[in-house]
Amino acid sequence: MQKYMNLVNGKYVEPLTGKYFEDLNPADNTDIIGIFPRSGSDDIKNAVRSAKEAFPAWRDLPPPKRGDLIYKLGELLLKNQEKLAKIIVREMGKTLPESMGDIQSSADVAYFAAGEGRRMYGQTTYSAQFRKWAITKRVPVGVCGLITAWNAPMAIITWKLLPAVICGNTVVLKPSEDTPLTAHMFGELIKEAGFPDGVINIIYGMGPETGEALVKEKDVDLISFTGSTKVGRKISEECGRQMKKCSLELGGKNGLVVMDDADLNAAADAVARGAFSTAGQRCASTSRAFIHEEIYDDFLKLLIEETKKMKVGVGTDPNTKVCPIINKKQFTDIMGYIKGAKKDGATLLYGGNALTEGEFSKGYFIEPTIFENVDLYSKLAQEEIFGPVLAVFKINSLAEAIEKVNSVKYGLTASIFTSNMRNGLIAMEKFEVGCCYVNAPTFGSEPHMPFGGVKDSGNGQREPGTQSLDVFSEWKTIYLNYS
Ligand code: NDP
Repeated sequence: MQKYMNLVNGKYVEPLTGKYFEDLNPADNTDIIGIFPRSGSDDIKNAVRSAKEAFPAWRDLPPPKRGDLIYKLGELLLKNQEKLAKIIVREMGKTLPESMGDIQSSADVAYFAAGEGRRMYGQTTYSAQFRKWAITKRVPVGVCGLITAWNAPMAIITWKLLPAVICGNTVVLKPSEDTPLTAHMFGELIKEAGFPDGVINIIYGMGPETGEALVKEKDVDLISFTGSTKVGRKISEECGRQMKKCSLELGGKNGLVVMDDADLNAAADAVARGAFSTAGQRCASTSRAFIHEEIYDDFLKLLIEETKKMKVGVGTDPNTKVCPIINKKQFTDIMGYIKGAKKDGATLLYGGNALTEGEFSKGYFIEPTIFENVDLYSKLAQEEIFGPVLAVFKINSLAEAIEKVNSVKYGLTASIFTSNMRNGLIAMEKFEVGCCYVNAPTFGSEPHMPFGGVKDSGNGQREPGTQSLDVFSEWKTIYLNYS
């Protein structure tokens, strides 16, 4: 059994706790991928010290030079794309094309972040006084603690970490306990790219132990977190107490509207893929669909046809469209939502079962599941399930659809299918979300664009895009007097 170690100051080190945890394959829980450090607060302290010591030299390296290393990392990500994607398939469970996309997105953000090293523009303007310049300049924040989720294991790391380091910060990364090998591979690549020791440190462990210790550590100047709203709220409270900068990318309960003038085939394809690909384990998954009453029955027929094409299976099978669920806890939670919806009187239209026989016997698999006649304020319609479960609702107007899309505490993404530009523009204006789509699924983001949500889906920060520079840098204002 391969034992992996923390990466501190460029060296692999054992955890001071002496404890380890197993990294399991969600498609086959007899497949132990490796054992990883179950680190404690002293391990975090050492990593933070290393990041702090590396900070002055990294801060003083001109951003284009920092960008050269990030560019090289982008090249390495692409060179190793298939190998890395296969690790994601084994460790996280999603399909090979989805995993290849994860690495592609990471390389794209590397190229984008490298380019930012040659932009990073500030302002130069006139002072109100004679012979004085007024200038603004971006400066790094310091040591950044990065805490990531498992569902896009490389993309989420790079979306935070590369904007952080291009700005001149040094980092301590605490990846999800479900996908540590992807983080280890990232560590290998940053060594190969030639990043100086201590700029990027990786500490493995459990959220409430290792993650919490990172948030509490006084010498960490900023926390960037992607994960659930519940944990994000806790992190935000601690950062608030310490006056620590904090960026939160949190959960979603995303709605898609299908109007009576929509291309129904395209809409059915988008709803099925949005709800069931990656087994619904995306922050931007479609978990509610609002269908115009005029086309409701026709649309449901098409949706069920599309759903039948969503084959459940292991990520290594090229025919698989719906991968396993990440772990037993998540599997149990999703099945609890399905049971609860039946109890609450919702009508099961499709699926609803766990698959436990034959090829499914060693992993966590759930059929794509569709409910109708769902109470808008039930748990199924209000809470993030993070599984392959969709609730469909009948609506009779655009206004009703928008009100219902907005009826949740989350505000990550929303979409409308319509051939009427006016409907699309009104939805764009009225959806209470950070990312909105017209005639496209509720997911899909590009590295040069900001991604994030409003309401309980975030705290107003955006990663990646140029906007991520605002997360990972401070503005310094300079007055230059030559009178
Ligand atoms: P969690 O909130 O459970 O965990 C996220 C990360 O935080 C993990 O690394 C976890 O460690 C760590 N963590 C857990 N508890 C604590 C704590 N008390 N203090 C510090 N760190 C902690 O989320 P999941 O990993 O289950 O990810 C799914 C969630 O992520 C969903 O809500 C999804 O919507 C959201 N997400 C949001 C995205 C966005 O861009 N808005 C993108 C992708 C996902 P460990 O793994 O050890 O538990």
